[in-house]
Amino acid sequence: MATEYDLVILGGGTGGYVAAIRASQLGLKTAVVEKRKLGGTCLHKGCIPSKALLRSAEVYRTAKQAEEFGVNVPEVELQFSKVQSRKQKIVDQLYNGVKHLMKKGKIDVYEGIGRILGPSIFSPMPGTVSVEMASGAENEMLVPKNVIIATGSRPRSLPGLEPDGENILSSDDALELEHLPASIVIVGGGVIGIEWASMLNDFGVDVTVVEYAGRILPTEDADISREMQTRLAKKGITIITGAKVLPDSLEKGKTISIQAEKDGETHTYSAEKMLISVGRQANVEGIGLENTDIQIENGFIATNSMYQTKESHIYAIGDVIGGLQLAHVASHEGMTAVEHIADQHPHSMDYSLVPKCIYSSPEAASVGLTEEEAKAEGRNIKVGKFPFQAIGKALVYGETDGFVKIVADQDSDDILGVHMIGPHVTDMISEAGLAKVLDATPWEVGQTIHPHPTLSEAIGEAALAVDGKAIHF
Ligand SMILES: Cc1cc2nc3c(=O)[nH]c(=O)nc-3n(C[C@H](O)[C@H](O)[C@H](O)COP(=O)(O)OP(=O)(O)OC[C@H]3O[C@@H](n4cnc5c(N)ncnc54)[C@H](O)[C@@H]3O)c2cc1C
Repeated sequence: MATEYDLVILGGGTGGYVAAIRASQLGLKTAVVEKRKLGGTCLHKGCIPSKALLRSAEVYRTAKQAEEFGVNVPEVELQFSKVQSRKQKIVDQLYNGVKHLMKKGKIDVYEGIGRILGPSIFSPMPGTVSVEMASGAENEMLVPKNVIIATGSRPRSLPGLEPDGENILSSDDALELEHLPASIVIVGGGVIGIEWASMLNDFGVDVTVVEYAGRILPTEDADISREMQTRLAKKGITIITGAKVLPDSLEKGKTISIQAEKDGETHTYSAEKMLISVGRQANVEGIGLENTDIQIENGFIATNSMYQTKESHIYAIGDVIGGLQLAHVASHEGMTAVEHIADQHPHSMDYSLVPKCIYSSPEAASVGLTEEEAKAEGRNIKVGKFPFQAIGKALVYGETDGFVKIVADQDSDDILGVHMIGPHVTDMISEAGLAKVLDATPWEVGQTIHPHPTLSEAIGEAALAVDGKAIHF
């Protein structure tokens, strides 16, 4: 049997389910096809479970430091199974929430593997979606006017270093650890690698990070990378940069060992387990792209700024199109695509306004251009920097490391980028995001009254510092 829809969304991750809700709000008859669980990577393998584990690690570390706050905690014991069950409870609660939202929006959810068909008896155009139902029931045929592909991504591996789920882990495997290893080598010092390094170190694991680029977090502002490396090293994490892992050198025994080449020399790194965090690849296979004219560029689906593929009624959003692989990017792309389908004339997304967060300890967050990028664009820049050391609330928290840095244009006075590292900056970055959206100048941010004592005062002070007018430093 074939069922007609205005819109069928392939993949019910953050991008897909948010797009479905917007479509239902705009009156489109909508279906979502999901082969695993609604919520996708972010809810089940990414943002939420990793942040739940990070929060437990933070509580454990803070409890061990309680004496500094005048609180005597005689024995701090980590019960990792409870850490994992707390994580799962949070995920389950949010999963139920997403299922409820689908019902509320009268969105049909098909549990199964979706595949796009070419022209068929159902439609002269490619786009009919055949669903191989998880229940084993006969395939469902969905005949939509429009399709959104939101099939997301999966961990990338290196040849010779494929995760085995036991000793060589992907981030998916690491989330399911039943016991903490004594030691781990993390290959890749990007966002995911650094969050895991920080978390496992806080849990008491001996952590080594091996990064190919000259610095960890290579896409962040160089000052942020440098500060993060210093802070993590101070916590006891070994960080090796500019090191090329030699996959053929992998040896599995009681421990895992790997060799990496750095400055012409070969070094060996051994640990109980290894985590491979070297990026994510798009899920473009097995979804019927060969039945369409849709193009793949560098492994990702190519789209225009409204997320239309070469088949103008088939859109693609989220991790499967590459770029910034973030949940809030996927959902905004999804909403833009749906509004375009519904003739709402949305603005195309400005990716320079997307905040990026790293939930390690210390946290880091940024929006807009790094100092290096601004200079590479030929901008005449001015920079304001303000340390948390001079912020009363940071002292109260007992977390005074880090700073807020604002990069502005000397000629136009535009804020080009804001970069932060320190306590709670992943929550504070939204103010910088708003300042960018409203095209505020550093002076305007400096005039904004920041309540005292708060960590947000560091933003106001950094804005004043752009023109040499910071008060407390
Ligand atoms: C460890 C980790 C931590 C992260 N932390 C953050 C964070 O803190 N903040 C942040 O913004 N981002 C974070 N991310 C990234 C974020 O999870 C992704 O950017 C986001 O999930 C992308 O959403 P999506 O909808 O494009 O894809 P996904 O969430 O991957 O969803 C795709 C869905 O499509 C389904 N699917 C695939 N193929 C088919 C098919 N043929 N038929 C039916 N269904 C199909 C999949 O089962 C999946 O549910 C993290 C990622 C990881 C791995």
